[in-house]
Amino acid sequence: MSGTTKEYRDRRDFRKTAEPAGDGGGGSGGDPIWVIHEHDASSRHFDFRLEVGGVLKSWAVPKGPSTDPADKRLALATEDHPMGYADFEGVIPEGEYGAGPVIVWDRGTYANLAEDDEGDPVPMADQVANGHVTIRLEGGCKLAGGYALTRMDNREEEMWLLVKMDDAEADARRNPVSTEPESVLSGRTIEQIAEQEG
Ligand code: MN
Repeated sequence: MSGTTKEYRDRRDFRKTAEPAGDGGGGSGGDPIWVIHEHDASSRHFDFRLEVGGVLKSWAVPKGPSTDPADKRLALATEDHPMGYADFEGVIPEGEYGAGPVIVWDRGTYANLAEDDEGDPVPMADQVANGHVTIRLEGGCKLAGGYALTRMDNREEEMWLLVKMDDAEADARRNPVSTEPESVLSGRTIEQIAEQEG
């Protein structure tokens, strides 16, 4: 699976939106990154993005990520985004695709947790293609530890579930989606971004 951001570019008018027009041509160079945007579009959601093959594979998570392994959060696969999107924060203008404010809610690097029968890592692109992704989030401010993304059987292909793995970082008492609303880039909430830049 080679990454392409053609669908991303086709959906946007870069004369109107401040979102990056990058072609997805390069990875981050070091450990692969993850980023979660909070996005108040037609409905509010969190966009979970993973660097795979030089692009950001993306899922829209309506309820946002949980730190409780008992929660299964619906995650709708969306178009690959360019690597430059990891730093994007601002307001997508009215009339444009995804119009509304966006903040960088959390981000860091990740480790691939999936191994084949020989103990070798399963390439991330294969995990995405196979509909089962297991990673360990590192370096974030709000989320940490193992997460699994699993495509639902007998459903529309774009429906996945995002679930916290039951590890040392699992915590059913936390709810960072509501208790930690600030951007990890700017410290601003999505409401403040909307007021200041909308
Ligand atoms: Mn979104």
